[in-house]
Amino acid sequence: MSNATAGGRRHRVVVVGSGFGGLFAARHLRRADVDVVLISKTSTHLFQPLLYQVATGILSTGEIAPATRLVVRKYANTQVLLGDVQDIDLVNRTVTSRLLSQDTVTPFDSLIVATGAQQSYFGNDQFATYAPGMKTIDDALELRARILGSFEEAELAQTQEDRDRFTTFVVVGAGPTGVELAGQISELANRTLAGAFRSIDSRESRVVLVEGANAVLAPMGPKLGGKAHAQLEKMGVEVQLNSMVTGVDARGVTIKDSQTGDIRRIEAACKVWSAGVQASPLGKMLAERSKGTETDRAGRVVVEPDLTIKGYPNVFVVGDLMAVPGVPGMAQGAIQGATYAAEQIKKELKGKQTPAERKPFHYLNKGSMATISRFNAVCQIGKLEFGGFLAWLAWLALHLYYLIGYRSRIVTVFQWFVSFSGRNRGQMAATEQWVFARLALEALNGNDEDAREALEETGTDSKESTG
Ligand SMILES: Cc1cc2nc3c(=O)[nH]c(=O)nc-3n(C[C@H](O)[C@H](O)[C@H](O)COP(=O)(O)OP(=O)(O)OC[C@H]3O[C@@H](n4cnc5c(N)ncnc54)[C@H](O)[C@@H]3O)c2cc1C
Repeated sequence: MSNATAGGRRHRVVVVGSGFGGLFAARHLRRADVDVVLISKTSTHLFQPLLYQVATGILSTGEIAPATRLVVRKYANTQVLLGDVQDIDLVNRTVTSRLLSQDTVTPFDSLIVATGAQQSYFGNDQFATYAPGMKTIDDALELRARILGSFEEAELAQTQEDRDRFTTFVVVGAGPTGVELAGQISELANRTLAGAFRSIDSRESRVVLVEGANAVLAPMGPKLGGKAHAQLEKMGVEVQLNSMVTGVDARGVTIKDSQTGDIRRIEAACKVWSAGVQASPLGKMLAERSKGTETDRAGRVVVEPDLTIKGYPNVFVVGDLMAVPGVPGMAQGAIQGATYAAEQIKKELKGKQTPAERKPFHYLNKGSMATISRFNAVCQIGKLEFGGFLAWLAWLALHLYYLIGYRSRIVTVFQWFVSFSGRNRGQMAATEQWVFARLALEALNGNDEDAREALEETGTDSKESTG
């Protein structure tokens, strides 16, 4: 590889996505003799692991989502373009992105695609109308408004039946996100909002964590899963295992017991979906245009050992979009994949290796963790598994380390101090628009019947669709 192209310009690396994969790719290329163009459909670098704290009023969006443009301001070789990538032409080496109605075509010599994954409803996309996921800033704000809005509606409710429905919260999926959310909704009800209402007692709320499998935090193993389960129950969270959600509507969820086949209902205004992921559609596009690369069931790209697609050694797929055995869909997988891709490009530009000489990507598992409540987490590092306060301290330190920017870290420490040492939370603002904006946009785009129906219901009975 040469760092000057036929046209005389420097070698250009286009990076798609500004999540962990995209940002760390740009970071590792910042001193290389290349031009980097980072294209993303969001203007921020979103720290997804703390989204649940935005949803539950602990952090503001600014702390977990700094503007990418400002993060990379000092990377002299990097340009940031806002745009939703619509097309990747592997033969002519161009990426086409769209911002509103304007298309931009960006040529590349090397390409790193890190467009991540989105929520999957396993073919039941209509559930999204009433049970938003937790992938974006919009999701977290919508959820905050739905959670707090439900308490407000409970205060106004005329019947006990309505009060119960508005103070029942169902979280679907007992992975780290579901566990963290259920724990925080419970703390919100039992600590932050306690004594703040006159017609209801928020401490009598019901938080139900519904899981299709037979364990909480199944990938972390029985010991840590068991600890998390016990701690959740101690906090008053109802954990329902072997429970498949078969229906979601304005008033609640329908559940099928996967062991007995029995069907039951939980009446709940506020539902959250954290049960599955589906890779960005760009994965399928890349695979179809490659020379034989496939995608897995979740739409992730089954990459070559050097994280490229078949026939295109200059096109890397990293992060949640790549399928590599043993690499989980976690921040470390994305960071390490992006670093590896950037290193290959740099080495080849310096003439130190050819694509055929690349050593395969090797993932170093640095462990995983999840918080359950303040001062309580579970942590797994290599063979070491532990829970409780020590794990929570480890969680605290790690998340602060990976938060981008000193300002974010300082403000976050302050917000955590306020939230964890006392009862209050600093980010309890919520507006009606946060609940309805997504539905309105979907209805405006004219492609979602459920969203239109939900909005129409809003006109006649706002209680039906607020939660
Ligand atoms: C709620 C939640 C909690 C999590 N908790 C943890 C945790 O505790 N620990 C952990 O290690 N991991 C956690 N993860 C997983 C971790 O966040 C992901 O593994 C990681 O973000 C993947 O990085 P990525 O760069 O592949 O994708 P992402 O971070 O998802 O970034 C994708 C980027 O691509 C952009 N994009 C998407 N489509 C397009 C397009 N068509 N055109 C242009 N840009 C596009 C997006 O705007 C975004 O900037 C969590 C994830 C979630 C959702």
